[in-house]
Amino acid sequence: MKVAVFSTKPYDRQFLSAANSPIQHELVFFEPRLHRNTAILAAGFPAVCVFVHDLVDAPTLEILASGGTRLIALRCAGFNNVDLKAAANLGINVVRVPAYSPYGVAEHAVGLILSLNRKIHRAYNRVREGNFSLTGLLGFNLNGRTVGIIGTGKIGLILGQIMKGFGCDLLAYDVYRNPELEALGGKYVELPELFANSDIISLHCPLTPETHHLINAETIAQMKPRVMLINTSRGALIDTQAVIEGLKSRKIGSLGVDVYEQESDLFFEDLSGEIIQDDVFQRLTTFPNVLVTGHQAFFTEEALHNIGETTFANITDIEQGRPCPNEIRAQPEVAAQALAN
Ligand code: NAD
Repeated sequence: MKVAVFSTKPYDRQFLSAANSPIQHELVFFEPRLHRNTAILAAGFPAVCVFVHDLVDAPTLEILASGGTRLIALRCAGFNNVDLKAAANLGINVVRVPAYSPYGVAEHAVGLILSLNRKIHRAYNRVREGNFSLTGLLGFNLNGRTVGIIGTGKIGLILGQIMKGFGCDLLAYDVYRNPELEALGGKYVELPELFANSDIISLHCPLTPETHHLINAETIAQMKPRVMLINTSRGALIDTQAVIEGLKSRKIGSLGVDVYEQESDLFFEDLSGEIIQDDVFQRLTTFPNVLVTGHQAFFTEEALHNIGETTFANITDIEQGRPCPNEIRAQPEVAAQALAN
């Protein structure tokens, strides 16, 4: 099938081309994001392949449909950026990649925990400048500390397994219990108990109306003094302004985030020569005890390989009229999942 691939970086081209070589779909790579002003580029393409920051709203879908597009292939799990109802009304199928790097994301969360605890980001700069002072680099043993995991699906469970290996105690909160986490010794508790007893809190639940700004002034007040907060899930799980206040008052000991509520204006682009206008984001980056990465937790060779393989298998299923296990439709029960990545 002829596929217009939007938001492509050199690494996307490399991994998508490799995954496509046995299948031979006809790929045309476009660097811009898909939105209503770029949708015209896809005229004549029956399939369009998009990523997390492409905006597949109703006006964009109408332009795509009038150009002959019948399939949106998301190369990510979340579909909050797609108007599923509009797609269904226009007869456009939507497919996705439900899981591609749970180990990669959990391992990145651990990387943030270790770096923040032992101040590796600060030590790196100091040593390069000939500053070998240890003042300000004091950490704590992870062994014996309590990690609170919110969302114990694929990624949260793997984080639990890794942290158990460090000798941590696990507290967990989820709307469904995961018996594998309980088998590890993880204890499910209500959120106030998790907040009150965790030295490290890591977020691994999807963004839904229920989890929007789950971390806010009120919940921060329930946490242990000097708590470490980690978010590799979705930016809007955190009220960033409240977290900044928590950092200023020293209630929050450190913060590691791979996602940010307004990230679509920033992440995945080289803005090093630009004046960044987002003052909240800029304030975050001034704290010595804050580590921000630009939505790179998923970014492993294995993930890019899996994304390519599943995306083209999905496209082939639809092309050949077979049922596709990764097809998503506008149904009330999936609406809550729609905000997950
Ligand atoms: P998953 O579906 O396997 O697990 C999510 C868990 O969250 C489930 O157990 C679910 O029951 C739970 N949950 C749902 N609503 C909840 C609520 N209100 N409170 C507490 N828990 C709730 O998903 P996953 O593969 O583990 O991914 C977790 C999150 O990681 C995704 O939602 C996504 O936002 C994020 N993610 C980030 C990256 C990245 O590169 N930073 C990559 C992939 C996924």
